[in-house]
Amino acid sequence: MARDARTRAVAPFSGFRVGAALETADGTVITGCNIENASYGLTMCAERVAVFKAVSDGHRHFKRIAVVADTPVPTPPCGACRQILWEHTGDIQVILANLERETGRYQMTRLLPVAFDADVLSSSSRGLSERRVSSVTRPPSRRKRTP
Ligand SMILES: [Zn+2]
Repeated sequence: MARDARTRAVAPFSGFRVGAALETADGTVITGCNIENASYGLTMCAERVAVFKAVSDGHRHFKRIAVVADTPVPTPPCGACRQILWEHTGDIQVILANLERETGRYQMTRLLPVAFDADVLSSSSRGLSERRVSSVTRPPSRRKRTP
C-alpha cells in the first residue's frame, strides 16, 4: 500500500517520491505520500501525512509504518517525522523498502533515542502539571509500550 501511495506523491521540485502506510492496532491502514510546495518549507513528508490523516480520523494506537522510496539504500524518516511518529505512535516498527524489496526495519526507540516528548515537559519545574500531561497530552500508545 505504501508503494501505491507513492504513485500519488506531489514532487515536482525534487522528483523524490515517497509513500507511507501506517497500520493501526485494529489493522486499519492509512496511507500518505509526500506533498511538495513552491515554498519548500511547507512541504510535507509521506510519514507525517499518514500520521495526521490517522489521528484526524480518530486513531490513537498503532503497530507499524512502511515507508517506500525509489532508492537502493534505506530511506529512513527525517528528523521532523521521527518526532511526529514518536509523539503520536510511540515505539512502533518502521519498515523501509524500495520498489522491489525491504531495505531496513527499525523500532522508533532506535531511530529517536532520548526523545523530547510530554514526559520531558512534565518533569520540568516550569512545565505542565503531571496530571494535565497524563490526562490530556500524552498519547495513549505511550502509556503501554510494546516490547
Ligand atoms: Zn519527514
